[in-house]
Amino acid sequence: MTNKRVKYHPNEHSILYGETGGACPLCGLPMMFQKATSAHPTIGYEIAHIYPLNPNASQKTGLKGYTAPTDINALENVILLCPSCHTKYDKDFKIAEYLKLLQIKKQYLSDAMAKHTASQHALQEEVHEILDLIVNSNLDYDDLSEPKLNVSSLDEKLKTDISPLQKREIRSNAIDFFVPIRNQIRLIEQRDQAAIRILQNQINSYYLVMNKQNPNNKDIVFNHIAQWVSLKTGKSIMASKVLTSFFVQNCEVFDAGSN
Ligand SMILES: [Zn+2]
Repeated sequence: MTNKRVKYHPNEHSILYGETGGACPLCGLPMMFQKATSAHPTIGYEIAHIYPLNPNASQKTGLKGYTAPTDINALENVILLCPSCHTKYDKDFKIAEYLKLLQIKKQYLSDAMAKHTASQHALQEEVHEILDLIVNSNLDYDDLSEPKLNVSSLDEKLKTDISPLQKREIRSNAIDFFVPIRNQIRLIEQRDQAAIRILQNQINSYYLVMNKQNPNNKDIVFNHIAQWVSLKTGKSIMASKVLTSFFVQNCEVFDAGSN
C-alpha cells in the first residue's frame, strides 16, 4: 500500500514556516525570497517527510529498527527544507541525516510547546529587582575564589541528564551570584514576606511543566525556563540564565533524586 501525499492547509504552512524561523534547517538558506518581477515574497521551501512517505528498498534497509509514525503525514513528521536539501535528503538518504532532522524537529516542537506554556504562567514583579541586580552586579572576582554556597546539593541535582557544559554554566552562575542575589532576596523579604515564596512557586510550577514536556533533558528544561523569564521580563537571556541558575540551587528545580 502506498501512502498518499496530502495537501497541507495554509495555516499548517504557517506553523511549519514559523518553527524554522524562515531558514532551511540544514543549510540556512532563506525559505522566502523576493523576485524583482513580483510584488510579494515567493515561497522557496518544500515540505519534506522526515520518515519517508513511501520508503524505497534501500531506505527500508536503513530504517530497520526505527518505527514509522502512525500518521505519516502528521505535522510532527514533516519539516520545511529548501528544494536542494530536500532532493538530497530523499535521493541520497542517510540514516544520520534522518536522525538529525528528527532531532531538529523535536527541538522545534519543544520550543513551540514552551512558548505556548509561557504565556499562561505569571511571574512576580519582584523578579525585576533581582534581574536588575544581576545586570548591574560588579562581581569581585578576588572574593569569588571560595564558594559561599554549599555546592554539594547543587551537584546532586545536576548529576544526571545534563551536558557537562550546561552543568558548568549553572554551577558557576549559582556560585558567582549566590551572595548578591541572596542579599537582595532578604531585602525583598523584609518588605514583603510572601513575595519570594510566590516567586519560587511560580518558577517551580513552570519547571514542572517543562520537565513533563521534556523528560530527562535538563539542558532543554533549563533553557526554556530562562527563555520564559526573559520573555516575561524583557530582560536579557544572559541575566535570565543567572536567575534561573540561582533558583536551581534555591528551590525544587531539578530536585535531587527526581528527573
Ligand atoms: Zn537547505
